[in-house]
Amino acid sequence: MVVQEIVDHGSCERRDLLLKKFPPAALEFLKIQGLGPKSIALLFEHYQVSTIDELERLCLDQKLRVLPRMGAKLEEKVLKSIAQYRQRTGRYLLSYAEDMARELTGYLGETPGIEQITLAGSLRRGRETVGDLDLLVTGPAAADVLERFVRFPRVEQLLARGENKASATVGREGLQVDVRALPRESFGAALQYFTGSKDHNVAVRTRAVKMGFKLSEYGLYRSADETKVAGETEAGVYEALGLGWIPPELRENLGEIERAAEGRLPELVELAQIRGDVHMHTTESDGRASLEEMAAAARERGYEYIAITDHSKSLAMTNGLDEKRAVAFAAEVRERNRNGLGLRIFSGLECDILKDGAMDLAHDALAELDLVIGSVHSHMNMESAEMTDRLLHALECPSLRVLGHPTGRILLHRDAFPFDFERVVDEAVRRGVWLEINASPERLDLGANLIRTAKARGARFIISTDAHHPKHLGNMHYGVITARRGWLAPADIMNTLPLDRFAAAMSR
Ligand SMILES: [Zn+2]
Ligand SMILES: [Zn+2]
Repeated sequence: MVVQEIVDHGSCERRDLLLKKFPPAALEFLKIQGLGPKSIALLFEHYQVSTIDELERLCLDQKLRVLPRMGAKLEEKVLKSIAQYRQRTGRYLLSYAEDMARELTGYLGETPGIEQITLAGSLRRGRETVGDLDLLVTGPAAADVLERFVRFPRVEQLLARGENKASATVGREGLQVDVRALPRESFGAALQYFTGSKDHNVAVRTRAVKMGFKLSEYGLYRSADETKVAGETEAGVYEALGLGWIPPELRENLGEIERAAEGRLPELVELAQIRGDVHMHTTESDGRASLEEMAAAARERGYEYIAITDHSKSLAMTNGLDEKRAVAFAAEVRERNRNGLGLRIFSGLECDILKDGAMDLAHDALAELDLVIGSVHSHMNMESAEMTDRLLHALECPSLRVLGHPTGRILLHRDAFPFDFERVVDEAVRRGVWLEINASPERLDLGANLIRTAKARGARFIISTDAHHPKHLGNMHYGVITARRGWLAPADIMNTLPLDRFAAAMSR
């Protein structure tokens, strides 16, 4: 499972090298759970299989089980993950969609006479994966924008071109983009409509009907005489329906409309409230930059503190720290803080949670560190009961402060491992262990739904980037969006605390 580790830890050079050895279809096959590079090589060798459909056929014909180290169980597993894979295709990481949207709005924004370009859809709601991009443009030059969009160099296939709308796939990955030109007077209604979600919009429209209105992407109209009462701004539409403006991240019909009607929308955390990033790696393990470089980048972001949390020894390929190096590292960080680095550095460790739930390093070494994150990086194919026991055992470690990327999922690649989430959360709450919202766009772990569940059970959180490079510190906003989708307020998130209070909470 070398590739698994590489994907987890972002060591791209090695990954690229490995991928070069395989035909292009191997890239796709690697996304099928249960297939590692070795089994893929074997499949190529024996069957010259080149598509997912062919692979499915082989499983159905029971042709995998005749190969060494493969069996009926694997066929079953591969079939299941092919089904999952098909569900995932056509979806893109939030970060990919956001980069494309930025490039596109920059390009379209150069159209003379343009008034505004706004993103709608699931990207505006901050969903962890995005199916397509929705761009709305207004102004007298809107038609020119459509024309310019069609000529965007990264357009792969033009799907439709009408008077007010153009659709195309952009980029090699085939992300679909819809651009709509709108009259200014219906911009707000259109933005509300195209932001979604579907469930939210159905509920809002139902409310409108009950109040004697009709709501469409053109505006809000009184049913009796078709008079338009709102539509130019989104806030105006919500206001006319007796609702406060609802942040897009909340628009999933999970109670936000009722709360807006009562004027009790939750206070949501904002990026500017994050005061430190407490999960990152350096060249001590598998990071790409030194402690000084990470600290400088964090200072530039205005953080008051960071924690350096390199890997522990059982992740041998990352050159993880053993007890001796961990203790020496803690002493070194104490020394460096004396010299004033412009921000406080905490000595930390991302300590592996071993197969049986024990910590990878001895307790007395862990006790020397300011912040211990416990993470599962291996043996993820456990039964739920076994994984639950493993995590509960890990929580017994008195030095443990954070449960890192708690479900182990890799978006569009690997599902969360199964465990009794509520039981583990309850135990974490009881022991004062915080849950991580890992902001790496491949993880976003915990995700929004589990965040809500955990918050309802009294959990505390940190949002951290798990940066392996200074530029990854910029991923913090993906974590913040995810926290907002989980209805979190700044008070739920420990790294919104100022330095002294964070330090006190951490060492408690
Ligand atoms: Zn990790
Ligand atoms: Zn990490």
